[in-house]
Amino acid sequence: MQDVKDITIIGAGPTGLFAAFYAGMRGATCCLIDNLDQVGGQLTALYPEKYIFDVAGFPKVLAKDLVKGMAEQAFQFKAPVHLGQKVIGLKRESQNGKPAFTVVTETDQYPSRTVLIAGGIGAFTPRRLPLKDVDRWYGKGLHDRILEPRIFTGKRVLLVGGGDSAFDWAVNLQGVAQWILMIHRRDGFRAHAATVKQVQALAAAGKMELRTFWELKAIHGGAVIEAATIFSTKTKQEERVAVDCVIPQLGFISALGPIAEWGLEIEKGDIKVSQTMETNIIGIFAAGDITTYPGKLKLIATGAAEAAIAVNHAVHLINPAAKVEPGHSSNMAIFGQTED
Ligand SMILES: Cc1cc2nc3c(=O)[nH]c(=O)nc-3n(C[C@H](O)[C@H](O)[C@H](O)COP(=O)(O)OP(=O)(O)OC[C@H]3O[C@@H](n4cnc5c(N)ncnc54)[C@H](O)[C@@H]3O)c2cc1C
Repeated sequence: MQDVKDITIIGAGPTGLFAAFYAGMRGATCCLIDNLDQVGGQLTALYPEKYIFDVAGFPKVLAKDLVKGMAEQAFQFKAPVHLGQKVIGLKRESQNGKPAFTVVTETDQYPSRTVLIAGGIGAFTPRRLPLKDVDRWYGKGLHDRILEPRIFTGKRVLLVGGGDSAFDWAVNLQGVAQWILMIHRRDGFRAHAATVKQVQALAAAGKMELRTFWELKAIHGGAVIEAATIFSTKTKQEERVAVDCVIPQLGFISALGPIAEWGLEIEKGDIKVSQTMETNIIGIFAAGDITTYPGKLKLIATGAAEAAIAVNHAVHLINPAAKVEPGHSSNMAIFGQTED
Protein backbone atom coordinates (compact mmCIF):
# COMPACT_ATOMS: atom_id res chain seq x y z
CA MET A 1 0.00 0.00 0.00
CA GLN A 2 1.41 3.38 -1.07
CA ASP A 3 0.98 6.66 0.83
CA VAL A 4 -2.19 8.67 0.29
CA LYS A 5 -2.13 11.21 -2.54
CA ASP A 6 -4.42 14.15 -3.30
CA ILE A 7 -4.83 13.06 -6.91
CA THR A 8 -4.07 9.68 -8.44
CA ILE A 9 -3.82 10.00 -12.20
CA ILE A 10 -4.64 6.93 -14.27
CA GLY A 11 -2.79 7.24 -17.57
CA ALA A 12 0.54 8.92 -18.33
CA GLY A 13 -0.31 10.08 -21.84
CA PRO A 14 -0.12 13.80 -22.67
CA THR A 15 -3.25 14.52 -20.61
CA GLY A 16 -2.00 12.66 -17.54
CA LEU A 17 1.44 14.27 -17.81
CA PHE A 18 -0.04 17.75 -17.98
CA ALA A 19 -2.33 16.93 -15.05
CA ALA A 20 0.73 15.90 -12.99
CA PHE A 21 2.37 19.22 -13.82
CA TYR A 22 -0.74 21.14 -12.85
CA ALA A 23 -1.14 19.21 -9.60
CA GLY A 24 2.44 20.12 -8.68
CA MET A 25 1.84 23.75 -9.57
CA ARG A 26 -1.21 23.78 -7.29
CA GLY A 27 0.78 22.19 -4.45
CA ALA A 28 -1.26 18.97 -4.63
CA THR A 29 0.41 15.59 -4.23
CA CYS A 30 -0.15 13.12 -7.05
CA CYS A 31 1.09 9.99 -8.71
CA LEU A 32 0.75 8.62 -12.23
CA ILE A 33 -0.02 5.03 -13.13
CA ASP A 34 0.26 3.59 -16.63
CA ASN A 35 0.05 0.17 -18.13
CA LEU A 36 2.75 0.99 -20.67
CA ASP A 37 6.42 0.86 -19.77
CA GLN A 38 6.98 4.42 -21.01
CA VAL A 39 5.09 7.67 -20.58
CA GLY A 40 3.43 9.40 -23.56
CA GLY A 41 0.32 7.30 -24.29
CA GLN A 42 -0.62 7.17 -27.98
CA LEU A 43 2.30 9.44 -28.94
CA THR A 44 4.82 6.94 -27.61
CA ALA A 45 2.96 3.74 -28.50
CA LEU A 46 1.52 4.62 -31.91
CA TYR A 47 3.36 7.48 -33.59
CA PRO A 48 6.62 8.54 -31.88
CA GLU A 49 8.23 9.57 -35.18
CA LYS A 50 5.30 11.58 -36.60
CA TYR A 51 5.28 15.35 -36.61
CA ILE A 52 2.48 17.16 -34.78
CA PHE A 53 1.53 20.61 -36.05
CA ASP A 54 -1.36 21.67 -33.82
CA VAL A 55 0.09 21.98 -30.33
CA ALA A 56 0.32 25.55 -29.07
CA GLY A 57 3.83 26.93 -29.15
CA PHE A 58 5.23 24.32 -31.53
CA PRO A 59 4.92 25.00 -35.29
CA LYS A 60 6.12 21.41 -35.78
CA VAL A 61 7.20 18.85 -33.18
CA LEU A 62 7.97 15.13 -33.26
CA ALA A 63 5.57 13.20 -31.03
CA LYS A 64 8.47 11.71 -29.04
CA ASP A 65 10.01 15.17 -28.52
CA LEU A 66 6.69 16.58 -27.31
CA VAL A 67 6.48 13.72 -24.80
CA LYS A 68 10.03 14.47 -23.64
CA GLY A 69 9.09 18.10 -22.98
CA MET A 70 5.80 17.21 -21.30
CA ALA A 71 7.57 14.68 -19.06
CA GLU A 72 10.21 17.22 -18.08
CA GLN A 73 7.48 19.73 -17.24
CA ALA A 74 5.44 17.11 -15.36
CA PHE A 75 8.22 15.64 -13.25
CA GLN A 76 9.76 18.91 -12.02
CA PHE A 77 7.60 18.41 -8.90
CA LYS A 78 8.89 14.83 -8.49
CA ALA A 79 5.54 13.06 -8.76
CA PRO A 80 6.10 9.29 -8.68
CA VAL A 81 5.19 7.42 -11.85
CA HIS A 82 4.30 3.73 -11.73
CA LEU A 83 4.77 2.19 -15.16
CA GLY A 84 3.94 -1.30 -16.37
CA GLN A 85 0.91 -1.44 -14.04
CA LYS A 86 -2.64 -1.79 -15.24
CA VAL A 87 -5.37 -0.30 -13.06
CA ILE A 88 -7.83 -3.13 -12.48
CA GLY A 89 -9.98 -1.93 -9.60
CA LEU A 90 -11.18 0.95 -7.48
CA LYS A 91 -12.32 0.86 -3.87
CA ARG A 92 -14.55 3.69 -2.71
CA GLU A 93 -14.77 4.81 0.89
CA SER A 94 -15.58 8.00 2.71
CA GLN A 95 -13.44 9.76 5.33
CA ASN A 96 -14.92 12.53 7.51
CA GLY A 97 -17.68 13.01 4.99
CA LYS A 98 -15.19 13.33 2.11
CA PRO A 99 -14.78 10.76 -0.66
CA ALA A 100 -11.70 8.55 -0.50
CA PHE A 101 -10.46 5.99 -2.97
CA THR A 102 -7.96 3.20 -3.38
CA VAL A 103 -6.80 2.62 -6.92
CA VAL A 104 -5.84 -1.02 -7.36
CA THR A 105 -3.34 -2.32 -9.92
CA GLU A 106 -2.16 -5.87 -10.53
CA THR A 107 0.71 -5.32 -8.08
CA ASP A 108 -0.10 -2.42 -5.75
CA GLN A 109 -2.72 -0.22 -4.10
CA TYR A 110 -2.80 3.58 -4.24
CA PRO A 111 -4.95 5.43 -1.67
CA SER A 112 -6.13 8.80 -2.87
CA ARG A 113 -8.42 11.69 -2.02
CA THR A 114 -9.48 12.09 -5.67
CA VAL A 115 -8.91 10.16 -8.90
CA LEU A 116 -8.30 11.60 -12.35
CA ILE A 117 -8.88 9.18 -15.20
CA ALA A 118 -6.74 10.16 -18.19
CA GLY A 119 -6.94 6.74 -19.78
CA GLY A 120 -7.25 7.87 -23.41
CA ILE A 121 -8.42 5.09 -25.68
CA GLY A 122 -7.84 2.57 -22.89
CA ALA A 123 -4.98 0.56 -21.49
CA PHE A 124 -2.50 -0.37 -24.17
CA THR A 125 -1.33 -3.93 -24.05
CA PRO A 126 1.16 -5.43 -26.47
CA ARG A 127 -0.40 -7.52 -29.25
CA ARG A 128 0.52 -11.13 -28.55
CA LEU A 129 2.14 -13.63 -30.86
CA PRO A 130 -0.53 -15.78 -32.50
CA LEU A 131 1.04 -19.03 -31.23
CA LYS A 132 -0.96 -21.69 -29.39
CA ASP A 133 1.46 -22.23 -26.50
CA VAL A 134 2.65 -18.62 -26.24
CA ASP A 135 1.83 -18.23 -22.52
CA ARG A 136 4.31 -20.86 -21.39
CA TRP A 137 7.26 -18.84 -22.73
CA TYR A 138 6.68 -15.66 -20.71
CA GLY A 139 9.40 -15.51 -18.06
CA LYS A 140 11.49 -17.98 -20.05
CA GLY A 141 12.82 -15.65 -22.73
CA LEU A 142 9.68 -14.23 -24.36
CA HIS A 143 9.35 -10.47 -23.81
CA ASP A 144 6.70 -8.37 -25.52
CA ARG A 145 7.71 -5.33 -23.48
CA ILE A 146 11.24 -4.30 -22.61
CA LEU A 147 11.65 -2.67 -19.21
CA GLU A 148 15.35 -3.43 -18.77
CA PRO A 149 17.44 -3.85 -21.98
CA ARG A 150 20.42 -5.19 -19.99
CA ILE A 151 18.66 -8.55 -19.53
CA PHE A 152 19.52 -9.21 -23.18
CA THR A 153 23.25 -8.90 -22.58
CA GLY A 154 25.07 -11.65 -24.49
CA LYS A 155 21.79 -13.21 -25.70
CA ARG A 156 20.77 -14.34 -29.19
CA VAL A 157 17.61 -12.42 -29.89
CA LEU A 158 14.79 -12.97 -32.38
CA LEU A 159 12.92 -9.69 -33.01
CA VAL A 160 9.52 -9.98 -34.71
CA GLY A 161 7.82 -6.96 -36.32
CA GLY A 162 8.19 -4.09 -38.76
CA GLY A 163 7.11 -1.00 -36.83
CA ASP A 164 8.95 1.69 -34.90
CA SER A 165 9.41 -0.41 -31.76
CA ALA A 166 10.96 -3.38 -33.59
CA PHE A 167 13.36 -1.12 -35.50
CA ASP A 168 14.22 0.98 -32.43
CA TRP A 169 15.11 -2.17 -30.47
CA ALA A 170 17.17 -3.55 -33.37
CA VAL A 171 19.31 -0.41 -33.02
CA ASN A 172 19.20 -0.09 -29.22
CA LEU A 173 20.18 -3.71 -28.54
CA GLN A 174 23.34 -3.38 -30.65
CA GLY A 175 26.32 -3.95 -28.39
CA VAL A 176 24.01 -5.52 -25.78
CA ALA A 177 22.65 -8.66 -27.46
CA GLN A 178 25.17 -11.14 -28.84
CA TRP A 179 23.19 -11.51 -32.08
CA ILE A 180 19.93 -10.14 -33.47
CA LEU A 181 17.77 -11.77 -36.12
CA MET A 182 14.83 -9.58 -37.12
CA ILE A 183 11.95 -10.98 -39.17
CA HIS A 184 8.92 -9.28 -40.71
CA ARG A 185 6.06 -10.79 -42.69
CA ARG A 186 6.40 -8.36 -45.60
CA ASP A 187 8.97 -5.93 -47.02
CA GLY A 188 7.02 -2.75 -46.20
CA PHE A 189 7.77 -1.21 -42.82
CA ARG A 190 5.69 1.09 -40.60
CA ALA A 191 8.83 2.46 -38.96
CA HIS A 192 10.54 5.79 -39.48
CA ALA A 193 12.52 5.75 -42.75
CA ALA A 194 15.76 6.89 -41.07
CA THR A 195 15.65 4.01 -38.55
CA VAL A 196 14.83 1.52 -41.32
CA LYS A 197 17.93 2.73 -43.20
CA GLN A 198 20.02 2.43 -40.05
CA VAL A 199 18.92 -1.19 -39.52
CA GLN A 200 19.45 -2.04 -43.19
CA ALA A 201 22.96 -0.63 -42.89
CA LEU A 202 23.61 -2.70 -39.75
CA ALA A 203 22.40 -5.82 -41.59
CA ALA A 204 24.56 -5.00 -44.64
CA ALA A 205 27.56 -4.60 -42.33
CA GLY A 206 26.90 -8.08 -40.85
CA LYS A 207 26.05 -6.72 -37.41
CA MET A 208 22.59 -8.32 -37.41
CA GLU A 209 20.31 -10.15 -39.79
CA LEU A 210 17.10 -8.75 -41.30
CA ARG A 211 14.74 -11.09 -43.16
CA THR A 212 11.53 -9.98 -44.85
CA PHE A 213 8.66 -12.32 -45.79
CA TRP A 214 9.54 -14.52 -42.78
CA GLU A 215 7.26 -15.34 -39.86
CA LEU A 216 7.59 -17.15 -36.53
CA LYS A 217 6.02 -20.62 -36.45
CA ALA A 218 7.09 -22.11 -33.12
CA ILE A 219 9.24 -21.59 -30.06
CA HIS A 220 11.23 -24.50 -28.60
CA GLY A 221 13.03 -25.18 -25.34
CA GLY A 222 12.55 -26.49 -21.83
CA ALA A 223 13.07 -24.32 -18.77
CA VAL A 224 14.06 -21.49 -21.13
CA ILE A 225 13.80 -20.71 -24.85
CA GLU A 226 16.47 -22.51 -26.87
CA ALA A 227 15.32 -22.15 -30.49
CA ALA A 228 12.59 -20.97 -32.82
CA THR A 229 11.19 -22.21 -36.10
CA ILE A 230 10.68 -19.50 -38.67
CA PHE A 231 9.21 -19.91 -42.13
CA SER A 232 9.32 -18.03 -45.41
CA THR A 233 5.87 -16.82 -46.50
CA LYS A 234 7.12 -16.89 -50.11
CA THR A 235 8.82 -20.29 -50.38
CA LYS A 236 7.24 -22.01 -47.31
CA GLN A 237 10.79 -23.06 -46.36
CA GLU A 238 11.21 -23.63 -42.61
CA GLU A 239 14.31 -23.03 -40.57
CA ARG A 240 15.17 -23.74 -36.95
CA VAL A 241 17.31 -20.99 -35.44
CA ALA A 242 19.07 -21.11 -32.09
CA VAL A 243 17.89 -18.17 -29.95
CA ASP A 244 17.70 -17.35 -26.24
CA CYS A 245 15.01 -14.68 -26.43
CA VAL A 246 12.04 -13.80 -28.61
CA ILE A 247 10.85 -10.19 -28.68
CA PRO A 248 7.58 -9.67 -30.56
CA GLN A 249 6.88 -6.00 -31.31
CA LEU A 250 3.52 -6.28 -33.02
CA GLY A 251 1.83 -3.08 -31.88
CA PHE A 252 -0.78 -2.62 -29.20
CA ILE A 253 -4.43 -3.28 -28.55
CA SER A 254 -6.36 -0.97 -26.25
CA ALA A 255 -9.46 -1.42 -24.11
CA LEU A 256 -11.20 0.58 -21.38
CA GLY A 257 -11.32 -2.65 -19.36
CA PRO A 258 -12.43 -2.66 -15.72
CA ILE A 259 -12.85 1.16 -15.58
CA ALA A 260 -16.11 0.62 -17.48
CA GLU A 261 -17.46 -1.28 -14.45
CA TRP A 262 -16.94 1.41 -11.80
CA GLY A 263 -20.47 2.83 -12.08
CA LEU A 264 -19.34 5.77 -14.22
CA GLU A 265 -21.70 7.11 -16.85
CA ILE A 266 -20.33 5.85 -20.15
CA GLU A 267 -21.46 6.92 -23.61
CA LYS A 268 -20.19 5.04 -26.65
CA GLY A 269 -17.14 3.89 -24.68
CA ASP A 270 -16.26 7.36 -23.33
CA ILE A 271 -16.77 8.74 -19.81
CA LYS A 272 -19.36 11.49 -19.53
CA VAL A 273 -18.06 14.57 -17.70
CA SER A 274 -19.43 17.97 -16.71
CA GLN A 275 -17.81 21.32 -17.61
CA THR A 276 -15.61 20.85 -14.52
CA MET A 277 -14.45 17.44 -15.76
CA GLU A 278 -16.32 15.72 -12.93
CA THR A 279 -17.85 12.34 -13.58
CA ASN A 280 -21.11 11.22 -12.00
CA ILE A 281 -19.08 9.99 -8.97
CA ILE A 282 -17.94 12.77 -6.62
CA GLY A 283 -14.15 12.79 -6.40
CA ILE A 284 -13.59 11.05 -9.73
CA PHE A 285 -12.57 13.35 -12.56
CA ALA A 286 -11.71 12.46 -16.16
CA ALA A 287 -9.86 14.32 -18.92
CA GLY A 288 -8.50 13.79 -22.42
CA ASP A 289 -9.53 11.30 -25.08
CA ILE A 290 -11.49 9.20 -22.60
CA THR A 291 -14.12 11.89 -21.96
CA THR A 292 -17.23 12.98 -23.77
CA TYR A 293 -19.49 16.07 -23.54
CA PRO A 294 -21.27 18.17 -26.16
CA GLY A 295 -18.70 19.66 -28.52
CA LYS A 296 -15.86 17.37 -27.43
CA LEU A 297 -12.66 17.35 -29.54
CA LYS A 298 -10.16 14.55 -29.04
CA LEU A 299 -6.88 16.43 -29.32
CA ILE A 300 -3.69 16.89 -27.32
CA ALA A 301 -4.54 20.58 -26.87
CA THR A 302 -8.02 19.93 -25.47
CA GLY A 303 -6.70 17.13 -23.23
CA ALA A 304 -4.25 19.58 -21.67
CA ALA A 305 -6.98 22.16 -21.06
CA GLU A 306 -9.24 19.52 -19.54
CA ALA A 307 -6.40 18.33 -17.29
CA ALA A 308 -5.99 21.88 -15.97
CA ILE A 309 -9.74 22.20 -15.32
CA ALA A 310 -9.94 18.79 -13.64
CA VAL A 311 -6.95 19.37 -11.37
CA ASN A 312 -8.09 22.82 -10.26
CA HIS A 313 -11.53 21.47 -9.36
CA ALA A 314 -10.02 18.45 -7.59
CA VAL A 315 -7.81 20.77 -5.52
CA HIS A 316 -10.86 22.84 -4.58
CA LEU A 317 -12.86 19.70 -3.69
CA ILE A 318 -10.10 18.49 -1.38
CA ASN A 319 -9.64 21.92 0.21
CA PRO A 320 -12.56 24.30 -0.36
CA ALA A 321 -10.35 27.17 0.86
CA ALA A 322 -8.14 26.67 -2.21
CA LYS A 323 -9.59 28.67 -5.09
CA VAL A 324 -10.51 26.94 -8.34
CA GLU A 325 -8.78 29.75 -10.23
CA PRO A 326 -5.06 28.85 -10.24
CA GLY A 327 -3.64 32.32 -10.84
CA HIS A 328 -0.94 32.90 -13.45
CA SER A 329 2.17 30.74 -13.49
CA SER A 330 4.13 33.76 -14.73
CA ASN A 331 3.65 35.32 -11.28
CA MET A 332 4.23 32.31 -9.11
CA ALA A 333 6.91 32.01 -6.43
CA ILE A 334 7.02 28.24 -7.05
CA PHE A 335 8.71 29.05 -10.40
CA GLY A 336 10.95 31.70 -8.84
CA GLN A 337 8.69 34.57 -9.89
CA THR A 338 7.28 37.36 -7.72
CA GLU A 339 3.74 36.77 -6.50
CA ASP A 340 1.53 39.72 -7.33
C1 LIG B 1 -1.56 8.32 -35.51
C2 LIG B 1 -2.13 9.42 -34.64
C3 LIG B 1 -1.80 10.73 -34.90
C4 LIG B 1 -2.31 11.75 -34.10
N1 LIG B 1 -1.98 13.06 -34.38
C5 LIG B 1 -2.45 14.06 -33.58
C6 LIG B 1 -2.14 15.42 -33.85
O1 LIG B 1 -1.45 15.75 -34.83
N2 LIG B 1 -2.63 16.37 -33.01
C7 LIG B 1 -3.42 16.07 -31.93
O2 LIG B 1 -3.82 16.97 -31.18
N3 LIG B 1 -3.75 14.76 -31.66
C8 LIG B 1 -3.29 13.76 -32.45
N4 LIG B 1 -3.65 12.47 -32.19
C9 LIG B 1 -4.53 12.20 -31.03
C10 LIG B 1 -3.75 12.30 -29.72
O3 LIG B 1 -2.67 11.38 -29.75
C11 LIG B 1 -4.68 12.02 -28.55
O4 LIG B 1 -5.68 13.01 -28.53
C12 LIG B 1 -3.90 12.04 -27.23
O5 LIG B 1 -2.92 11.03 -27.21
C13 LIG B 1 -4.85 11.84 -26.06
O6 LIG B 1 -4.08 11.86 -24.89
P1 LIG B 1 -4.57 11.12 -23.55
O7 LIG B 1 -3.48 11.33 -22.55
O8 LIG B 1 -5.94 11.61 -23.23
O9 LIG B 1 -4.71 9.59 -23.93
P2 LIG B 1 -3.61 8.52 -24.44
O10 LIG B 1 -2.56 9.17 -25.24
O11 LIG B 1 -4.41 7.43 -25.06
O12 LIG B 1 -2.96 8.00 -23.09
C14 LIG B 1 -3.71 7.27 -22.17
C15 LIG B 1 -2.79 6.40 -21.33
O13 LIG B 1 -3.59 5.78 -20.32
C16 LIG B 1 -3.12 4.47 -20.11
N5 LIG B 1 -4.19 3.67 -19.52
C17 LIG B 1 -5.47 3.55 -19.96
N6 LIG B 1 -6.16 2.73 -19.16
C18 LIG B 1 -5.30 2.31 -18.19
C19 LIG B 1 -5.41 1.43 -17.09
N7 LIG B 1 -6.54 0.78 -16.80
N8 LIG B 1 -4.32 1.23 -16.33
C20 LIG B 1 -3.15 1.85 -16.59
N9 LIG B 1 -2.99 2.69 -17.63
C21 LIG B 1 -4.05 2.92 -18.41
C22 LIG B 1 -2.72 4.00 -21.50
O14 LIG B 1 -1.77 2.93 -21.43
C23 LIG B 1 -2.13 5.27 -22.11
O15 LIG B 1 -0.74 5.36 -21.94
C24 LIG B 1 -3.18 11.44 -32.99
C25 LIG B 1 -3.49 10.09 -32.72
C26 LIG B 1 -2.98 9.08 -33.53
C27 LIG B 1 -3.33 7.65 -33.21
